[in-house]
Amino acid sequence: MTDRLVLYPGSFDPVTLGHLDILARACRLFDRVCVLVAASGKPGMWPVARRVELIERSLGDLRCEVDSFEGLLVDEVRRRGAVAVVRGLRSAGDYEHEWSLHGVNRRMLDGFETLWLPARPEFAAVSSTLVRDVARHRGPLADLVPPPVVAAFEAEWSA
Ligand code: ADP
Repeated sequence: MTDRLVLYPGSFDPVTLGHLDILARACRLFDRVCVLVAASGKPGMWPVARRVELIERSLGDLRCEVDSFEGLLVDEVRRRGAVAVVRGLRSAGDYEHEWSLHGVNRRMLDGFETLWLPARPEFAAVSSTLVRDVARHRGPLADLVPPPVVAAFEAEWSA
């Protein structure tokens, strides 16, 4: 049987410990995992290439691919021959949003599958938005993001 690829798409602006927990668990469950930073949508705090680089530098022992994509996720699923998309669920709010996203994607691609992994309770309140807010006030980030992201913020603060 060929290796089964799953995609983990998102904004990752920036990558958080919550994202990395989902990624680590996906890597244990599937043969191949590719993290995909979405390049379309509203412009973020950091350019897509910087987000990709920070994910790569935060992987530690995790063996996965990291890339970015533009356009529709279903096209990326088709193009890469992925069997499913992995997403994290932190709350009922996430679920509502994810459910409609899945429905839209399913309508565009028959057989499209989303696999939801529940957030670990300690990361359920962690989001990139929260990280950006804390960082704006130069608050403590070590419990929210991996060391390379802490270092990236600190480098900006001292520039
Ligand atoms: P998007 O803008 O596509 O939601 P995000 O980078 O915010 O991109 O999130 C990507 C995925 O990771 C989403 O499925 C989101 O629910 C999930 N996620 C985000 N933060 C966490 C967390 N702390 N724990 C688990 N999953 C998370």
